[in-house]
Amino acid sequence: MARGTVQLTRVADDVHVVTGTNVNWAVVTEGREVTLVDAGYPLDADAVVASLEALGRRASDVVAVLLTHAHLDHMGGVPHVRSLSGCRVVTGADEVAHAHRERLEQVSAGRVLAQARTPAGARWVGQTLRAVGPHLRMRLSGVEAAPHESPVDAPGRLVAVDTPGHTSGHTAFLMPSSGVLFSGDALVTGHPLCRHDGPQRLPGLFAHDEDRVLRTLRDLRDVPADVLVPGHGRPVRAPLADLVDGALERTDHR
Ligand SMILES: [Zn+2]
Repeated sequence: MARGTVQLTRVADDVHVVTGTNVNWAVVTEGREVTLVDAGYPLDADAVVASLEALGRRASDVVAVLLTHAHLDHMGGVPHVRSLSGCRVVTGADEVAHAHRERLEQVSAGRVLAQARTPAGARWVGQTLRAVGPHLRMRLSGVEAAPHESPVDAPGRLVAVDTPGHTSGHTAFLMPSSGVLFSGDALVTGHPLCRHDGPQRLPGLFAHDEDRVLRTLRDLRDVPADVLVPGHGRPVRAPLADLVDGALERTDHR
């Protein structure tokens, strides 16, 4: 995505969703100040800055980046944004060590390359390798743990929701004032490796623990949200319980 051509989708007065290389991030504003939820692949970093500029903000207005999890398609833009803003980086308490790469829960390069046996998979592999660039071993430092059951002190007042499975510390974020759930990869609505759009789980190859992915999905039924902003696929406005039920019924991408 070239600078200046970012597409933003407004899902609430103060929430915009942006799609980079097959992945979303969100810009939550409060006055001039910004919270980012996720930050794209490493080579999406310029597009992250462009999305802020499209909303009349600068990278230096970013107060915090909230990470749903420490995969490269979600944390890749963090070092650039942090260098321009000095912002905090916050994720779930159990995901901090992953962001610091004290452990690694990531699909292997071999399993990524194996997806190239279909045309859609080959396209996705090429896009992924380009978007990661030379940053495969990126690690973050100084990442903070989100508070338990109280809001993160940053624009949007988002509350962390434990959603383990995709990674063991995967964390969604709920914005109570607007009923938006940022679900990361716990519940998505599309992905280049999925045959259909709509609420669903990511293909199993990406899951650290598939049983926990399912348990987490069921638990999400009880989260009071009616706008879903997923890590992959389009945002959707519907009661979260209905979207979860749709995802549980759908098995055709496996
Ligand atoms: Zn992802």
